[in-house]
Amino acid sequence: MSVLSQPHFHDEAKAYAFLESVVWAGGVVCPHCGVVGGRVYDLSGVRGSKSVKNPEGAIRHGLKKCGECRKQFTVKVGTVFEHARMPLHKMLQAVHLIVSSKKGISAHQLHRVLEVQYKSAWFLAHRIREAMRSGDLAVPFGANGGAVEVDETYIGIKKDAPHMRGGWGHKHTVLALVDRESGQSRWFHIDSAKFSNIQPIVLENISREARLMTDEARVYKPVGKQFAEHGTTLHGGHVYVDPTDRTIHTNTVEGAFSIFKRGMKGVYQHCAEHHLHRYVAEFEFRYNTRQANGIDDRGRAREALRGISGKRLT
Ligand SMILES: [Zn+2]
Repeated sequence: MSVLSQPHFHDEAKAYAFLESVVWAGGVVCPHCGVVGGRVYDLSGVRGSKSVKNPEGAIRHGLKKCGECRKQFTVKVGTVFEHARMPLHKMLQAVHLIVSSKKGISAHQLHRVLEVQYKSAWFLAHRIREAMRSGDLAVPFGANGGAVEVDETYIGIKKDAPHMRGGWGHKHTVLALVDRESGQSRWFHIDSAKFSNIQPIVLENISREARLMTDEARVYKPVGKQFAEHGTTLHGGHVYVDPTDRTIHTNTVEGAFSIFKRGMKGVYQHCAEHHLHRYVAEFEFRYNTRQANGIDDRGRAREALRGISGKRLT
């Protein structure tokens, strides 16, 4: 027995039942008329059109009919899985592999393990990343006067950027905020680490009562004045924890970045700039649902699947 021997990873009908139990935990939602918990009929035994591969037509698993608007749907309608041709049980395997791999899993590896085309694996991974992307902003960090760490990191090389000696202008910039109390984080792909990019994110996501923690970078100085406290450490002077107040540091956010950088370098060697926000979302998701926050691989997979609705890949 292994985690992947659970029936919903192998049986298509059970895969639909599993996904329905996660996505419709609060009652079935008709994607056409929006009715929640209305009359819904199971349409069992319906088959799709006949083909060479399926002379009798493939069984349409999970097919429902809404008693209100009389339209048909499955749990995949209106989600990132909607137009994927791959069997659902394989997609659930992929979700489990992605959420349980600390540094991510390459499309090449998914292609080999799931025995699907490389292109299909690549698209599927992006569908799953989209599901992992956090939705609307919740409460601001640090509302009880807790410490919130903010830092930026630089990865990859921008397309067509001239290589510069020193500086980070030719690299992609990722900004992250970690709420030390809740262990939650929010990550942003920004154009560059300039004040006008960083200030709005910091002000929107962090409560003014918070203790802001950053390194000595000048960009944080003006915005830091708006918070109850602004603790800084002099990284240029190799000071990583303030000797007089050991709660002043950015070691938590830097720990999160080190997993991100190892994953982006080791697993996702190439990443176009317009996809970067999804990779960032993937690492943010795994960080926020990590073991230290009391969530195991199964719980993390369910959490990712709860995010499939209302998002579609373009
Ligand atoms: Zn309906």
